[in-house]
Amino acid sequence: MGGLACALAFGKKGFKNINVYESAADLGFVGAGIQIAPNLVRVLDRLDCWKGSVIERDATNVQSASIRDGATDQELAHVDMPDIEQKYGFPHCTGHRASLAGGLYDACKKLDSVRFNFGVTFAGVEEFGQSGKVKFSLQPRQGDPYTVETDILLGADGIKSATRYSMLKALKLDAEVEDTGQAAYRIMLTREEMSPYPDLLALLDDNGVKRWIGEKRHIIAYPISSHNIYNLSTCQPDENFASAPSAMYTTKGSKVVMKQVYADFAPIVQTMLDLVPEGEVCEWRLRSHKELPTWTHGRVALVGDACHPTLPHLNQGAAMAIEDGATLAEVITRVPGGGSDPEAVTKALKVYELLRKPRTTTLVDLAAFSGRTLHLGEGKAKEERDRQFAAAKEKGQPVPDKWASPDVQKMIYEYDCLKDAAERFDELYAGLT
Ligand SMILES: Cc1cc2nc3c(=O)[nH]c(=O)nc-3n(C[C@H](O)[C@H](O)[C@H](O)COP(=O)(O)OP(=O)(O)OC[C@H]3O[C@@H](n4cnc5c(N)ncnc54)[C@H](O)[C@@H]3O)c2cc1C
Repeated sequence: MGGLACALAFGKKGFKNINVYESAADLGFVGAGIQIAPNLVRVLDRLDCWKGSVIERDATNVQSASIRDGATDQELAHVDMPDIEQKYGFPHCTGHRASLAGGLYDACKKLDSVRFNFGVTFAGVEEFGQSGKVKFSLQPRQGDPYTVETDILLGADGIKSATRYSMLKALKLDAEVEDTGQAAYRIMLTREEMSPYPDLLALLDDNGVKRWIGEKRHIIAYPISSHNIYNLSTCQPDENFASAPSAMYTTKGSKVVMKQVYADFAPIVQTMLDLVPEGEVCEWRLRSHKELPTWTHGRVALVGDACHPTLPHLNQGAAMAIEDGATLAEVITRVPGGGSDPEAVTKALKVYELLRKPRTTTLVDLAAFSGRTLHLGEGKAKEERDRQFAAAKEKGQPVPDKWASPDVQKMIYEYDCLKDAAERFDELYAGLT
């Protein structure tokens, strides 16, 4: 997501020679739903990648959030969201990852300046470009490795980022990937599969997001693909990966185990889990990273999950990656001297970090905090949480599920990363020695 956004944003700013290197043979979309929050729609709109795009066409405009007790299906809090667009200028949508990535890709393909190189794996940075060019090595699927020179290298290579590894190694810094102790099943049910069940069809046809919560577990669910697919994303203690090699991130799960994990959830949830075809249970390890001391070195910078991986409980991971890409293009466009001075570019990349790191750190921490609150077991803390859920039924009150809380929505949704970059670039740049 971050890589596509960088390519599109730089292309739109008129940069002439943009290469995207992707290790997969094609965009290879892992099917799953994604929430497309107003702050993300705002950036897509600025990149001419919203109105009339496949992203907008396939999106569901979210009108409400319902937080429910997993065991009883009783509603703990209900947040009406009919006025999100009116408040923030852009709607809150849900969509398919394939539409979001596909829309960004289609927009990139309209630009002559952007070239995609699939089946090519980034292998490491050789020079970070403090004085001369940045040099890095690539390994194509077929053929020998080769070195590429560039003015700027942006590492949007996800949670397992080899760019981050290269950078930290060069800087002799230690910051490790961390286990969150949580894992997720990602499930998509088709209209056809749901059609025998009127209560499930009602979920599919609704413009709402549902979250069923229980001790140490929850399931978030919403319609995607023009209400033709119901997307469920779960979160439970990581049992299967705990003893697995650290490089493992996804695995085929067992339907029996999945059903056991949610055995005490309400019948409506059981019916949906029963519909998952045998052999199609996929479990994701939810990993995180110690906060990085730096996101940039020379003229190399990290983007998205490579520098701020997050638990998905605020649904902002892709949004933050795409905001990073748009901010980078905004910042680099403003480099004094038009980019001819490597030192000025290095400083501008630091401005990007100064603009983005405090905000992404806040959201990453808030997502983890919200997860802890959602997963509380019996006791005083849960009683207090449920009291707050009940109070939140009144319009405008804070909701313990931070994703659905109007105060948190305001903080996240009204933020305009491009305006922020434009307004603060000069001051932040001047403050760097
Ligand atoms: C269960 C779950 C639910 C989520 N729900 C939401 C949501 O609702 N809303 C939201 O905004 N976010 C959500 N996210 C988070 C979101 O998916 C990620 O934060 C986002 O994809 C990060 O984008 P990225 O570009 O940084 O990394 P990625 O999307 O991981 O992309 C990295 C790319 O780099 C490529 N790559 C990796 N290594 C190399 C290499 N060495 N050489 C070349 N290419 C390489 C990969 O193949 C991949 O294409 C969710 C995540 C999970 C796990």
